[in-house]
Amino acid sequence: MNNTELIEKLNKEKSLDRDEWVRLFETFIPEDRKFAADTARDISVSAFGREIYIRGIVEFSNICRNDCLYCGIRRSNRNASRYRLTAEEILQSCDEGYSLGFRTFVLQSGEDGYYTTEKMSEIVRSIKNAHPDCAVTLSLGEMEYSDYAALKAAGADRYLLRHETAHKEHYGRLHPAEMSWEHRMKCLRDLKSLGYQTGAGIMVGSPYQTAECLAEDMLFFAEFKPHMIGIGPFIPHKETPFKDFPAGSYELTLFMLSLCRIMLPEVLLPATTALGTVNPRGREEGVLAGANVIMPNLSPLAVRKKYMLYDNKICTGDESAQCRHCLEERMKSIGYEIATDRGDWRKRSE
Ligand code: SAH
Repeated sequence: MNNTELIEKLNKEKSLDRDEWVRLFETFIPEDRKFAADTARDISVSAFGREIYIRGIVEFSNICRNDCLYCGIRRSNRNASRYRLTAEEILQSCDEGYSLGFRTFVLQSGEDGYYTTEKMSEIVRSIKNAHPDCAVTLSLGEMEYSDYAALKAAGADRYLLRHETAHKEHYGRLHPAEMSWEHRMKCLRDLKSLGYQTGAGIMVGSPYQTAECLAEDMLFFAEFKPHMIGIGPFIPHKETPFKDFPAGSYELTLFMLSLCRIMLPEVLLPATTALGTVNPRGREEGVLAGANVIMPNLSPLAVRKKYMLYDNKICTGDESAQCRHCLEERMKSIGYEIATDRGDWRKRSE
């Protein structure tokens, strides 16, 4: 079977076997990527129309107990200037987002013990109180089942937790020994069983990633069926052990997005900020390759440059309103528009 036939098989059967995935990742050429993007775009247009969901991200703390080797806010980075937003500041950012038309707020942070489950629950409740028509997505890292359950009961709708890699040994090379691949995977299962719309995901081109790792990720997506998949290129951060590794491939990231769309037609798939960082047209091309979500920054201007997971992150000098309007224009330029509803995951046609 050639690569076009493999992509057609994926479209028909919604899965490939491990060897087929490895072969596809090892041998794809620009024509294969284009074929996958065209197929994926047709699928996303029939599932979602030419409408792009937006989620406003509030990056409310860059204090982190973990030491992930790739991440700019890892605890060992002594040069990071650390901050925490107050509950009032978080709520204010959401209020501003609401008036700009956002109906989903994503609260993301390092694993910062200051925000106990109780404090976070209170924050979630106050956002849901102020904006009952909005969805709240959390992205706070790994917790225990009881914490996730409490946050769900407080009103959280969705949770983003990239698994980072489905290949256990690879996970071990990206994280210090005290972090566990099994626990991260358990968190994802817990979140799904609690009824969260659950997002997994990876960085493309993270150090030591091979075609076998990506094959493992696709097999994991096929089996776990996340509601959302976050995929962006790895980008080195100058204050991390991975500072001298190259950034992940732009083309491979687009290819991964298309393959995810083809395999899981209804998945919520963002064209990420990292994709827009490695290429000025990254988010547009991500949409044209099958993505249907964009997640602009709603954090207060004063802290934006401090939430630096990787070097040269875009949109750190702009007000939220500017980001919102810039995106509107970018989507218009490719014939898409921004949707104004919550954009929940749901079963579409079949
Ligand atoms: N503490 C939360 C949020 C992490 S930041 C958690 O553990 O889930 C969100 C995502 O940014 C991470 O899951 C990772 O995939 C991505 N990220 C971190 N460092 C990066 C880098 N150097 N390049 C690209 N993406 C990165």
